[in-house]
Amino acid sequence: MHIREIHVYTAPLGAKKTYNMSNSTVETPVSTIVAAIDAEGLVGYGEACLASPQFQPAHNGGVRASLDVLAPAILGHDPKHVTTINASMNRALTGHTEGKAALDIACWDLAGKQLGISVVDLLGGAQMNDVTTYHVVGISTPDEAAETATRLQDEGITRLQLKAGGRPIHEDIASIHAVAGVLRPGTDLAVDTNRGWSTAEAVHVSQACSNIAMSMEQPCATEAELAQVKLQVGHPIIVDESSTDVRSIARMISSGLADGFGLKLTRLGGLTPMRAVRDLCMATRTPMSADDAWGGDIIAAAGVALGATLDPQFSRGAWLAHPYHDTHYDEANGPRIVDGFATLPTGGPGLGLVLDRAQFGDPVAVYR
Ligand SMILES: [Mg+2]
Repeated sequence: MHIREIHVYTAPLGAKKTYNMSNSTVETPVSTIVAAIDAEGLVGYGEACLASPQFQPAHNGGVRASLDVLAPAILGHDPKHVTTINASMNRALTGHTEGKAALDIACWDLAGKQLGISVVDLLGGAQMNDVTTYHVVGISTPDEAAETATRLQDEGITRLQLKAGGRPIHEDIASIHAVAGVLRPGTDLAVDTNRGWSTAEAVHVSQACSNIAMSMEQPCATEAELAQVKLQVGHPIIVDESSTDVRSIARMISSGLADGFGLKLTRLGGLTPMRAVRDLCMATRTPMSADDAWGGDIIAAAGVALGATLDPQFSRGAWLAHPYHDTHYDEANGPRIVDGFATLPTGGPGLGLVLDRAQFGDPVAVYR
């Protein structure tokens, strides 16, 4: 059953309290929601929401503009044909993976609904029903960071991501030591700088924290800088912002630069390219996460679906934005964090969400 219409909606997802990364603060990102509708009226949903204009080379207005080119390129396609749909989008527009991700995810959701099965099953089946998740400790004072880390561990979270960068590194080093001081056995610590340190700063921090078991996530801006740092530090390097496509990820695995990846659905272009990366990472025993930098229940459901199919040994978890903005599109069925794990949505086939297009108001664009 072919895609007959695509409707586009927006939803503001304001941070409920200050959420700082090294290079930006999350304020009120406006999410782009796409609804792909087939001839029988079944609807598949996709979403893309960029946390800030500085986090990546894209912004939410650009996502919506890209749909003017991308949506017409997939009208009339069978949503089950995600390979040909992605080829069609790539022929129509270079780059703009965020808009492609929203449409690709909508196709997986619609295909699942047409077939009466979950996206998790379409992706090959779950290896985890309770999906590993991780939680962020934002940039704050050492005492506040330690307090947050303690509270999160009390809630069952076993993977902590401490934000760093954008301030004098002695403050970052103090926060790392403070959080390390309250870590419990079995809790994993990643220090995520979101590209914020110079190579010299990254090496300095690693040396000042040499007795702390932690990984360093995207400490510097570019792949070349990460390669330089990798030779000088004892901590594992996790690549996030520099992992832009299957080719760059394959290169960083084979060169030994990357000890793991933080992967974003919108940066890679949706579940179809993420499935390829998952298979590559699992075959090479490379840990990865599957999520996005912001967004609502739709992108969260897609991240958790992919996350459920990972080998637990090599899962870095799926992050959910909703604890930071408290907005739910599907109160009853959306993915939630329970006892430190993300639950899979329970609302039926596809992504497992029960949504009504009317809940998002009038469409901002309609393609037919
Ligand atoms: Mg990151």
